[in-house]
Amino acid sequence: MERNKPLILVVEDDRQIQKFICYALESEGYPYITAGTGQEAISRLMSEHAEIMLLDLGLPDYDGLSIIKKVRQWSDIPILVVSARDQDREKAAALDSGADDYLTKPFSTTELLARIRVALRHLQKIGAGNTQAVLQVGGLQIDLERRLVHLDGVQIHVTPMEYSLLALLFRHMGKVLTTAFIIKEIWGPAYGTDTQALRALMAGLRRKIEKDHARPRYILTEVGVGYRLADE
Ligand code: CA
Repeated sequence: MERNKPLILVVEDDRQIQKFICYALESEGYPYITAGTGQEAISRLMSEHAEIMLLDLGLPDYDGLSIIKKVRQWSDIPILVVSARDQDREKAAALDSGADDYLTKPFSTTELLARIRVALRHLQKIGAGNTQAVLQVGGLQIDLERRLVHLDGVQIHVTPMEYSLLALLFRHMGKVLTTAFIIKEIWGPAYGTDTQALRALMAGLRRKIEKDHARPRYILTEVGVGYRLADE
């Protein structure tokens, strides 16, 4: 185990999945502790300084949402929710309650480790105060100071709304954002939950930055949940 890697709390009651996760973490040298119930998760989190939490939404005692709300009362630890494929509504609710990201079962070791790396990067940025003005993913670049967007070295024109949407996605690069969160950030809390305007805005932005509309390279759709800016 490498000393400088963060301690990860794995909350999962399914033995097989818990073993799979722990094995993946071990292979990358991440230290970890485990919990099989919500009660145990809370007490381990209070007694041991875990830095990332992997949380199964279906636990025998508490439901995932109430655990997230409890933890958020005193901790900013990144929470990666692990859920079943048919739990789209729960996933979105978990993210809106303060979870940072999610994994859908069954997931691969590669996916798991990628999500952990994104969570860590965001953790480090918060610690260091993220002041970087120019952000880039692949050939897509945004200059947050001058409000400019470049694609493959060529400046492209985006509307102010499209710019706001793209900037929001870049500020959370690699992380999934729920439609509710995006709508609140772009149109304000009074706007409600109508997703039609967001879909239209997204379609316009994608026409400008995606070469293949059927298979977007930059802005990925998370079905039933929201959108994610690709993270290489
Ligand atoms: Ca479970």
